[in-house]
Amino acid sequence: MDYDVIVVGAGLAGLVATVEIADAGKKVLLLDQEPEASLGGQAWWSFGGLFLVNSPEQRRLGIKDSLELAWQDWQGSAGFDRVDDEDYWGRKWAQAYVEFAAGEKREWLRSQGIRFFPVVGWAERGGQLADGHGNSVPRFHIVWGTGPGIVAPFEQRLRAHMVTGMVQYKPRHRVNELLQVGGAIVGVSGDVLAPSTAARGEASSRDAVGEFVYSAQAVVVSSGGIGANHALVRQYWPSRLGTPPAKMLSGVPAHVDGRMLAIAEQAGGRIVNRDRMWHYTEGIENWNPVWERHGIRILPGPSSLWLDARGQRFTAPNFPGFDTLSTLEAIQKTGYNYSWFILTQKIIEKEFALSGSEQNPDLTGKSIRQVLSRALPGAMAPVQAFMDKGKDFVVASTLAELVKGMNAITEEKLLDLAQIERQIQARDREIENKFTKDAQITAIRGARNYVGDKLIRVAKPHRLLDPASGPLIAVRLNIVSRKTLGGLQTDLSGRVLNQAGEVVPGLYAAGEASGFGGGGLHGYRALEGTFLGGCLFTGRVAGRAVAKELQSR
Ligand SMILES: Cc1cc2nc3c(=O)[nH]c(=O)nc-3n(C[C@H](O)[C@H](O)[C@H](O)COP(=O)(O)OP(=O)(O)OC[C@H]3O[C@@H](n4cnc5c(N)ncnc54)[C@H](O)[C@@H]3O)c2cc1C
Repeated sequence: MDYDVIVVGAGLAGLVATVEIADAGKKVLLLDQEPEASLGGQAWWSFGGLFLVNSPEQRRLGIKDSLELAWQDWQGSAGFDRVDDEDYWGRKWAQAYVEFAAGEKREWLRSQGIRFFPVVGWAERGGQLADGHGNSVPRFHIVWGTGPGIVAPFEQRLRAHMVTGMVQYKPRHRVNELLQVGGAIVGVSGDVLAPSTAARGEASSRDAVGEFVYSAQAVVVSSGGIGANHALVRQYWPSRLGTPPAKMLSGVPAHVDGRMLAIAEQAGGRIVNRDRMWHYTEGIENWNPVWERHGIRILPGPSSLWLDARGQRFTAPNFPGFDTLSTLEAIQKTGYNYSWFILTQKIIEKEFALSGSEQNPDLTGKSIRQVLSRALPGAMAPVQAFMDKGKDFVVASTLAELVKGMNAITEEKLLDLAQIERQIQARDREIENKFTKDAQITAIRGARNYVGDKLIRVAKPHRLLDPASGPLIAVRLNIVSRKTLGGLQTDLSGRVLNQAGEVVPGLYAAGEASGFGGGGLHGYRALEGTFLGGCLFTGRVAGRAVAKELQSR
């Protein structure tokens, strides 16, 4: 055997698995189709939000969280309804993961130098009943340094193992096949791709300049999901979400191509929950794209008015930041692939954040001075850049001008000023009293009882048509593809199972390729910050398990 273990994919899950295996004294070959510039995969681009339960950061902000509450929220969000089959292992992984997030996760990361921004974010607020979807409390912990900050300690460990020879890392190696002897996976073969100068995240060529075959006692597949492969996204799009969007932006680099999943399937692995995906509804086209159709997700506070393509306001729970899947369903059922936010300057200054490490230079660069400047008047610089240069933004001092501008950036010109004005005036009248029947305004006021929201995330309720809060802003929101919730079904050791539910000997999976654990630990919906965490957890579990199995042979 050339190596003890081969890991396919040098994203976060692959990095974690590799260093855990090498720590246990086993020799690893780490392969990736991309050049070294893209080491770390999607995680480098991520906002670095991590789901933690009952953390010191939460407690300092007066948040009362517990394992029981988190598990209640997880189950209400997941809606596991295939527990005897496709959800069997995913549900078990979910339970183990929530325990990890309430237990060892924070200290394990801190021991590697990872620190957290002190204000905990409240993602996916739900908007229905207590035992339904959503986080009952804020749990989105932003890593100080965002995505690069979470990749860094694992990259450091990787490079240390490369120096001692425990790990060989070969970029530009694209796996085409998992090799089998007597039903057991014993290696990989593939193409050596031409050297590439593509910068991080940019598409690299697929020109082959050679071939390779490597053998090992086990292979870990950590090749990510299908988010950049829109043909696959459309193929598995569930009918419950209406017709697949004709137009979509890409929230992930081109390497998230889903190709390795089919290769693992050919080798006997079972893929489950293909119809579960996590795409965002608040996508804007990047004016400065790194990859094709590059979409950026707005992480919205709760105050923008959300209208469908025809200018009709969405009803509860489809408010900004409440229920991604429900909103996606509502949008798709309109027959159009976009929707609108209408908001004010006051709202954009306090409530608009953009997902992605490069969109948050203050947090990514760990600059306290720049982070504090978020509190100063004016939108954050990356948001202002979109207002100035992004094709999805309209800024106007009157509603008439705004609606005219909105109609001008769509082909259909579906919006009627009188109809939009009537809805905004009705909403604005509800601001006059301290109580209201408008569920969104109730939610905004409720959110401001959380100090973190009041400080930096939720604008004081005000009339949208009050010129003192202006100018008015409209944003066209596109669907942006991102996460794959289903994947290779794995047991609690990360071993890939076949159609009969038996272990495929020698084959492990981790990260998004395994549906973040078990072939889908999220079920239908995510509580956010659970993807990076799922990669950390599954990479750690699979890495330790494969090393243990080899030691016992
Ligand atoms: C902009 C952005 C923001 C995000 N923000 C957050 C956040 O705040 N919180 C959160 O929890 N999650 C977030 N995520 C999601 C999270 O980053 C990803 O789900 C996670 O990083 C996936 O990691 P992975 O290791 O499973 O896969 P990937 O990072 O996709 O890595 C897979 C690797 O496998 C390689 N590969 C694939 N096929 C082959 C093959 N056949 N041969 C060789 N190599 C192959 C690819 O080139 C790639 O390098 C975000 C993602 C993005 C893009």
